[in-house]
Amino acid sequence: MNTADVIVIGGGTGGYSTALRAAALGLDVVLVERDKVGGTCLHRGCIPSKAMLHAAELVDGIAEARERWGVKATLDTVDWAALVATRDDIVARNHRGVEAHLAHAGVRVVRGGARLTGPRSVRVAGVPDGGGDFSARRGIVLATGSRPRTLPGLEPDGRRVVTSDDALFAPGLPASVLVLGGGAIGVEYASFHRSMGAEVTLVEAAERIVPLEDADVGRHLTRGLKKRGVDVRTGARLLDAEVLDDGVRARVRTDRGEIRTVQAERLLVAVGRVPVTDGLDLAAAGLAADGRGFVVPADWDRLETAVPGVHVVGDLLPPPSPGLAHASFAEGLLVAETLAGVGTAPVDYAAVPRVTYSSPQTAAVGLTEAEARARGHDVAVDTMPLTAVAKGMVHGQGGMVKVVAEAGDGRVLGVHLVGPHVSEMIAESQLIVGWDAQPSDVARHVHPHPTLSEAVGEAFLTLAGRGLHQQ
Ligand SMILES: Cc1cc2nc3c(=O)[nH]c(=O)nc-3n(C[C@H](O)[C@H](O)[C@H](O)COP(=O)(O)OP(=O)(O)OC[C@H]3O[C@@H](n4cnc5c(N)ncnc54)[C@H](O)[C@@H]3O)c2cc1C
Repeated sequence: MNTADVIVIGGGTGGYSTALRAAALGLDVVLVERDKVGGTCLHRGCIPSKAMLHAAELVDGIAEARERWGVKATLDTVDWAALVATRDDIVARNHRGVEAHLAHAGVRVVRGGARLTGPRSVRVAGVPDGGGDFSARRGIVLATGSRPRTLPGLEPDGRRVVTSDDALFAPGLPASVLVLGGGAIGVEYASFHRSMGAEVTLVEAAERIVPLEDADVGRHLTRGLKKRGVDVRTGARLLDAEVLDDGVRARVRTDRGEIRTVQAERLLVAVGRVPVTDGLDLAAAGLAADGRGFVVPADWDRLETAVPGVHVVGDLLPPPSPGLAHASFAEGLLVAETLAGVGTAPVDYAAVPRVTYSSPQTAAVGLTEAEARARGHDVAVDTMPLTAVAKGMVHGQGGMVKVVAEAGDGRVLGVHLVGPHVSEMIAESQLIVGWDAQPSDVARHVHPHPTLSEAVGEAFLTLAGRGLHQQ
């Protein structure tokens, strides 16, 4: 039997970050991956989708150049194959980078499917380059991630009814898309396809899209998408969908109870993700998934299950772990340091930022106004349109900054942004929320002029009673 200090099952962002940090701390690490290291984020999620959204931004820029700036540019065509080639090159280079990091760190990567055979042992099958039985001296880390949720009666066929995985590998760009699900993934794909010229209908059952975000974020995002021509239908339900030769015909019940027929070349099902534990045999280690398929830690401070030495990271964790790659990095660091005996702070889930990379983008950290009030906080709120600062006018895309704080210059509880490039603006707010800063602390610091981030600075100035452009 092969032995190691730590065996990590799953080489996505959660698993490979655990492995890298554990190896850096001097532990002997085996990382088992049945597909490609990098996992969902690198191969089917964050990176390819953001590469495509970058191309979409360029397309939008052509229209803006023509319509606002007198730059007489026209869009000839989008060469999907070329776009895919650039996207895949970025993914491939990142993939090689992760493999090189792991090799350099001395992590032994074993390619194959892992099955637990006990609380400290694993069998790897289907292995081209040597598998077999492994045992762990210190612990096992479960990092098997998630896959797209599907709905009964709406099974993806990869062609007409597709998941976010299939959308990447489609043969071309559709002329029309019906997107089911107004969470981050659904909104990003709706935004991408609209930029590429498709007729897009976005159907969300909840009252608003990105329903976990602040109500004002949902409103601004809806307005922004509608302005761009996306048919956003909230409080709406897909009743059924019929697959045709050239597309899908779906019946949607609107929020007013009317039945509408939507025909589109493609139906993209983006109704969430489910944890992956198939073939893992949790029971062999004395574990079980909960009713939703998650593996729940008994100790969230160490992300350790009820079986000592078995830890869990990434999308396999239930909320408050948010199912985001950057959260899984933090979880990987925590678990590796715990296994190495290095004292380390638990993940501060309240300060993990959340971003939707659509056009417009949303970025937020901390509590929404409704959550803050529901928790009994006496709340002070400032909302500032991005167009109140000069750079916001230059961009001309609207947007807003909303800060939620305890009244009377108390702690900042949440920061919510909508608009262009706000994904790059949220980092200061995660420190503000994470470090329990007060508006007056932030108001002491000067933001560069002219930038969009000035609007964040202004909102804090206003809450601190020192508003300059906003009284
Ligand atoms: C379209 C899309 C866009 C996204 N965009 C973002 C974004 O912009 N920002 C962000 O933070 N997050 C984003 N996410 C979410 C992010 O991808 C996930 O949170 C992250 O990938 C979770 O990492 P993980 O390590 O838990 O799991 P995964 O990345 O799913 O990795 C799990 C790995 O385990 C392997 N595995 C499973 N079972 C076994 C087994 N028995 N034996 C061996 N190997 C096994 C799998 O092959 C896989 O490689 C996006 C997701 C999607 C789908």
